[in-house]
Amino acid sequence: MAKLSKSKVVWAINETRSMKQAAKLSGVAYNTFKKYAKLYEVFAPSETKGIPRGTGGKKPIELADIFAGKNPSYSTTKLLHRCFREGYLAEECSNCGEDRYRPSDMSKPLMLDYMDDDATNKDIANLRVLCFNCFYLMKGQRLDVKIPQNVKQLQKAVGNLFSSE
Ligand SMILES: [Zn+2]
Repeated sequence: MAKLSKSKVVWAINETRSMKQAAKLSGVAYNTFKKYAKLYEVFAPSETKGIPRGTGGKKPIELADIFAGKNPSYSTTKLLHRCFREGYLAEECSNCGEDRYRPSDMSKPLMLDYMDDDATNKDIANLRVLCFNCFYLMKGQRLDVKIPQNVKQLQKAVGNLFSSE
């Protein structure tokens, strides 16, 4: 029987909306997942949704509540993935349309940007998706992000390329 770590169980629960989906994401049978989730005291089937279960059953906060500002410290990475999954944001750069998968890890080089630079302002109107390039081009200087010299040179080269067209 597959051994599941607590962090993996918690992660799977946070990434999905039901215990069955979480089990599937973990790649184990539902009963196995349930056993470990109960062992770690994080088992929270959707039937008990809305009923606080003390310190144990932690259910993911609704996106609508996050947009409404009820959880300003919610993880930006998690928020981005949930916005993708629940259809609030398109899986592409809102500036250049970049939507290719990075072959190395099959993830898209996209990040969630807070338009007013306030990471606690999680209003959907303040959120947009940017690829890494656009993020650094548009926000790098303003946010005082350290950009390695070789990237600066690359940006300059890319800039020259576009300006000569
Ligand atoms: Zn872009």
